[in-house]
Amino acid sequence: MAALADGSRAVISPHPDLSNRPRVTVFPMAERTFSILKPDATRRNLTGKINAMIEDAGLRIIAQRRIRMSREQAEDFYEIHKDRPFYGELVEFMTSAPVIVQVLEGSNAVAKYREVMGATNPAQADDGTIRKLYALSMGENSVHGSDSGDNAKIEIAQFFDADDIVG
Ligand code: ADP
Ligand code: MG
Repeated sequence: MAALADGSRAVISPHPDLSNRPRVTVFPMAERTFSILKPDATRRNLTGKINAMIEDAGLRIIAQRRIRMSREQAEDFYEIHKDRPFYGELVEFMTSAPVIVQVLEGSNAVAKYREVMGATNPAQADDGTIRKLYALSMGENSVHGSDSGDNAKIEIAQFFDADDIVG
């Protein structure tokens, strides 16, 4: 078993036709994304129902912790939105009750979780999505999911040590 640069694994075995050529099988690393079950979800005791939707979509919850976000953590996490009019309200909301921070893994985890979450505005979310079912408003919309693989790595590192993620 050899680890490749991107985290994929390669297994080298004798070729079945007994020629000298070895057979290399590559197991691609499943993608990871970062998720938050937001304060409106923990307040209404919805974390189990949301986790069931995540798992039913084929995503594995490979790390999970319930925390109370500090103001500093919330401000850092949403720094990209700091000039938007809703930033102050968003930081207030994210620190108003506990949240569940998670790492999800699966093929195309980033895009798949965005699909399961539904649109930011619940009025525009597709039927069967988490936000369509549970979001209260554009701000109190139950879940966060990374919007790219690069951002997923940054966001995961903001809340988890590598040791906390056991795959
Ligand atoms: P998403 O969470 O779908 O990626 P954004 O990254 O655009 O959405 O926004 C981050 C979060 O900020 C949203 O999930 C929501 O909680 C809040 N938010 C976004 N737009 C608004 C808005 N117009 N009014 C209030 N809150 C908002
Ligand atoms: Mg976003």
